[in-house]
Amino acid sequence: MSETSPELIHQIDPLRKRLAEERARGRTIGLVPTMGALHEGHLSLVRLARERCDLVVASVFVNPTQFGPNEDFARYPRNLQRDAELLALAGCHVIFAPTTDAVYPSGHVTSVHVAEVTRRWEGAARPGHFDGVATVVLKLFNMVGPDAAFFGQKDYQQTVVIRRMVRDLDVPVAIHVAPTIRDDDGLAMSSRNAYLSPRERDQGLVLSRTLQRCRELFERGQRDVAVYDSVIADSFAAEPEVCIDYASVVDADTLEPISRIGDRAVVIIAARVGKTRLLDNAILGE
Ligand code: AMP
Repeated sequence: MSETSPELIHQIDPLRKRLAEERARGRTIGLVPTMGALHEGHLSLVRLARERCDLVVASVFVNPTQFGPNEDFARYPRNLQRDAELLALAGCHVIFAPTTDAVYPSGHVTSVHVAEVTRRWEGAARPGHFDGVATVVLKLFNMVGPDAAFFGQKDYQQTVVIRRMVRDLDVPVAIHVAPTIRDDDGLAMSSRNAYLSPRERDQGLVLSRTLQRCRELFERGQRDVAVYDSVIADSFAAEPEVCIDYASVVDADTLEPISRIGDRAVVIIAARVGKTRLLDNAILGE
């Protein structure tokens, strides 16, 4: 298997057979789940997986069950050939790009619901989203059987949901979370940034600018969340065309809002610029 040509596998049985051979040789397996339309954020996860595991599997699957009825499933960017080229450069060994029928054969009726940590924020804005995420991630874990799986901090609530699912269901996989990769101007990389016009992109910088202000407040010792709330409000007031879905300082584990910052908190923001929803967050106190 050469580093420049990852093996492309579309079905579950051949994937299991291939990975069983690797496992029998004592090689550890790392999984990077993605929906494709890859960028440097995804590739940073592949590189981290290469450092931690012997064999890296990247899944490319636009998961229908995590999209709401009025969301962008149909127009979500798909380009497997380009993704495969980028994965080759990042040193991925196996690309698992299953068909929708392979993942959801007709008659499937089972799903995973992680309670509590899915109640607010993305869970409230996108009903059913995290059931779709938890279900597909558990299915991918069962298909691949990875020793470790790699996720981006960019989707902070998702990392909390997956860690909780793994803990609650005794899934034998180590979860690694890697920092958010940003463009030079600070915008968190996202496959959905492709939807932004140059003007919207510029307006969208208010998210990372606001988070930077929050980091500075934290470094100066500020722990009163009311102060953060007013800084966030002032910051977004300068970009009236950007609509906040939520912007809140929350407990890093429970995702519940807090009024004072203890050891560790997260500022989570979701906002809409035109038709595009942007997410970003900052952990305060690693
Ligand atoms: P997606 O393809 O959007 O489902 O994302 C696949 C994985 O890449 C998830 O674990 C995301 O959190 C992660 N990811 C997406 N954007 C970034 C980014 N800018 N930096 C780091 N990881 C990211």
